[in-house]
Amino acid sequence: MGRTTLQLDTSFDVVSPATGAVVGSYRIFDTAEVEATVATARGAGDWWAGLGFTERARRLDAWRGEITRGRGELARIIHEEMGKPLSDAKLEIAMALEHLAWAAANARRVLGPRQVRPNLLSMNQECTLEYRPFGVVGVIGPWNYPVFTPLGSVSFALAAGNAVVFKPSEYTPGVGLWLAERFAEVVPEQPVFQVITGLGGTGAALCRSGVGKIGFTGSTATGKRVMAACAETLTPVLMELGGKDALIVDADADLAAAADAAVWGGMSNAGQTCLGVERVYVHTDVYDEFLTELVARAAELRAGTGTAKIGPITMPKQIGIIRHHIEDALARGARALLGGAGAIDGQFVQPTILVDVPEDAAAITEETFGPTLTVSRVRDMDEAIERTNAGAYGLGSTVFSRHNGKRIADRLRTGGTSINAYVAHATITSLPLGGIGDSGFGRVHGADGLKEFTYAKATTRQRFPLPLALTTFTRSETTDAIVDRLVTVLHGRNR
Ligand code: NAD
Repeated sequence: MGRTTLQLDTSFDVVSPATGAVVGSYRIFDTAEVEATVATARGAGDWWAGLGFTERARRLDAWRGEITRGRGELARIIHEEMGKPLSDAKLEIAMALEHLAWAAANARRVLGPRQVRPNLLSMNQECTLEYRPFGVVGVIGPWNYPVFTPLGSVSFALAAGNAVVFKPSEYTPGVGLWLAERFAEVVPEQPVFQVITGLGGTGAALCRSGVGKIGFTGSTATGKRVMAACAETLTPVLMELGGKDALIVDADADLAAAADAAVWGGMSNAGQTCLGVERVYVHTDVYDEFLTELVARAAELRAGTGTAKIGPITMPKQIGIIRHHIEDALARGARALLGGAGAIDGQFVQPTILVDVPEDAAAITEETFGPTLTVSRVRDMDEAIERTNAGAYGLGSTVFSRHNGKRIADRLRTGGTSINAYVAHATITSLPLGGIGDSGFGRVHGADGLKEFTYAKATTRQRFPLPLALTTFTRSETTDAIVDRLVTVLHGRNR
């Protein structure tokens, strides 16, 4: 069970990964309680959808104000529960607020009813397209960005007109509850946004509860279990899963900027970032110079408490995985230019930079989720692209190049690529975020993120009968002949 401890299966403790102190105790919702919560959410969802886009946006904006004014307290809860430095927690909240604002402001434009043009054979029809809420959306979240990540689903599902039942990670339940309490202050009438606390079983019960959709963010292994559970009731799923992102450095790159991005991308949040840089591929011409720059910057960082810029590893079981990736790489001929086998002390892992790691080593193929980077020399950008694309994950990627960035990005098989900056595509409100392959499917953020929590509804209204009645048993042979000629004209000349 790691940092959470079971008490008679009805509640669990949250333990600070930095100090080992118990910082909270929370209820485990059982199946009946999850179902009861979803049942109350159904009525709330109808009410919320009935408010319309303008009033929902007003309430969501008011919630944004509540979160903003309380962000000091929220950052403290994040820090206590999962360990990241307070200033990073505040940065996370700031980025989440940007997306919340965008979702509220753009829901009507993206989802609201609009007329679309019919094709020639249906020119007598008036056509309306709109995106309707499912009713209740279940959101299951991780602990590593306990505000930014779940709100990527929660804000967009709410803006689209759904009620939300949110199962936060068992490592960060206090964060989830705090967000729901602030929401209830601005939407006191109905339980539109509810939180159910618990372990994996509570999440599994949510999958089977008959919600309209599950927005899941977490590991690839759990994602497969969530999909299997949702398959039983044909509940659609959004899968935001793990990653093994690469950063590519071309020969013409700004090496100082690339090294800065690699260090932040790899080590911030103690490396516990789905979009974290875990692998770096560097053009042979600048490899040595880049490494010198990278190691110098990473050497200034320290994992610890107080003013340390890197916090603890949140999950105790992750320490074993990080240790295995480092030791396995070293045993297979890799060298540690910083950190290494001795980098781990309790829940803290000091920055580690590995070179000469074989491409099939776990440190290159599996998600490490620690403040570690592998750096590999490549002869050209073709090799960098090939190695980046060789992995099973496809979440994000970063390219540093003064002249070739777009050309390289276009060949990378990832849901997003940021050129000459780290992770910019995840922070821009109008862009979608998500992955392919083992990183999942579906999108949060932007217009795609709003549509993700809706179903497309097509409506037609016949304005007048066509002289050529097609979909009727009274269709004449003359009509058939005319249609036949029309089809030839419309489609038959294409070669
Ligand atoms: P996890 O898979 O262990 O847990 C995620 C959530 O799933 C938790 O709330 C957990 O209680 C719940 N859960 C566990 N078993 C379940 C089951 N059988 N049915 C339903 N729910 C269940 O992941 P984690 O350790 O909390 O988060 C870290 C992972 O999340 C990493 O792999 C990271 O890359 C990924 N992540 C991805 C994104 C993204 O946007 N793609 C963002 C953040 C984190």
